[in-house]
Amino acid sequence: MQMPNTAMTATLSPPTAQGMLPSPLLHEVRQLLETDPPLLRVPASLRADFRRYRHRDLGTYLLLSTPALLLFYLSTVGVATLLFARHASAADQQLWWAGCLFTGTVLFVGMAPMLVERMRAIYTPVVAVMATLILTKLAVMPSLLANPALVACESFTCLTSLILVVLASRLSIGVSALVCLCSALLITVMLLVVFQVTPDWMMLKYYFGTPVLVCLYVGWLQERQERVNFLQSRLLVHDAHERDLMNRELNRMAHHDALSGLANRRRFDTVLAMEWERLRREQRPLAVLFIDVDYFKRYNDHYGHAPGDDCLAAVGQAIGSCVLRPGDLAARYGGEEFVVLLPDTEVEGAKEVGERIIAAVDALAIPHAGSLVSEHVTLSCGLAVRSPSTGGTSADLLKAADTALYDAKQAGRHRLCVEALDEPQPHKQARV
Ligand code: GH3
Ligand code: MG
Ligand code: MG
Repeated sequence: MQMPNTAMTATLSPPTAQGMLPSPLLHEVRQLLETDPPLLRVPASLRADFRRYRHRDLGTYLLLSTPALLLFYLSTVGVATLLFARHASAADQQLWWAGCLFTGTVLFVGMAPMLVERMRAIYTPVVAVMATLILTKLAVMPSLLANPALVACESFTCLTSLILVVLASRLSIGVSALVCLCSALLITVMLLVVFQVTPDWMMLKYYFGTPVLVCLYVGWLQERQERVNFLQSRLLVHDAHERDLMNRELNRMAHHDALSGLANRRRFDTVLAMEWERLRREQRPLAVLFIDVDYFKRYNDHYGHAPGDDCLAAVGQAIGSCVLRPGDLAARYGGEEFVVLLPDTEVEGAKEVGERIIAAVDALAIPHAGSLVSEHVTLSCGLAVRSPSTGGTSADLLKAADTALYDAKQAGRHRLCVEALDEPQPHKQARV
């Protein structure tokens, strides 16, 4: 198993900001959903999104509703023809068939092309025209037909078709209102100019007023529900992203040391246990470097605790920058002690890394007036290498590295000491 490089895990890539709502907008959306006003408006910055949301599943919606709509129309026309049209006068029959043909054509010509993906770009104007024509016919026909049964059938068929058209096409309340206005003009022109009949204004109130109210109400109800659904869905997406962010942050805090940016001891212990098991199966060596800042108590005493923290952060970064392989792990073990785990690494390779770390901190040249070994901050380092397959535990390895560190301190500090517990491996794979 490849463990992530410390430097990589310390800087987790930020989660995508897509789907997150900025604070004022989030507050506005929550407020809207809580107060739930009758005229619920989508905030201006979300309107483009809302339009996309409404159109997104239009295809499925139309595919399901169009055949149902056409089937409904054909069956009601069939029943009405069988029951009533046969007994009507010739003139009424003629008007009835002309009306059926008209509504049928409007429905077919309007809805069928909408099943084609490309045509859906113009679906709003097309459906608005359809609704206008049906509404006009609904109001005009009662003034032309003499047979009351046919008038009732005609009204029922048209009204239901109208509701279905508004529902199926999801006309917005604004477009529905425009449809009503256009129909009113068209009805006046048709009755007074084309058919030249004196309209029964009382009847027209019912034949036009009722459908208009129904059309507007259905449009309003539907769009309002869509707005609520849309705002709720945006809130859900936002919450999911926020949870994701918090989880990442918690994960980062659980596994990283805030001061140095390296892995923390808990992470180190977990990875050590896993690598120990993995390398035991693979019969490969595991190296540990135990690192300690020399005379750090004196540093704190001389410069203060806050500069001491800055110094530890710089040392931690320097150590992290020397750990290059993806499977390696550098961690702050506690206080001014650091550990580096080098899986599948022999003594020579691990020594090289340890010396690179000591040199990297030397290169920082952080002044250390209290040090007895140098003018700047230095490190001592203990190295132990062991093949888990030869027995023992990971704790033994750590203890060996700690003993090697003690030796380095005893030998004068600012150096690396090795305590290799293994015989050399039969097939060495030197690290590069
Ligand atoms: P040696 O060379 O033998 O390691 O000497 P030392 O002074 O470094 O060792 P000692 O263990 O006596 O002191 C370690 C000091 O590190 C003690 C403590 O004040 C300091 N220290 C531990 N953790 C922190 C920390 O998070 N911030 C700061 N500023 N100092 C810390
Ligand atoms: Mg110490
Ligand atoms: Mg120390």
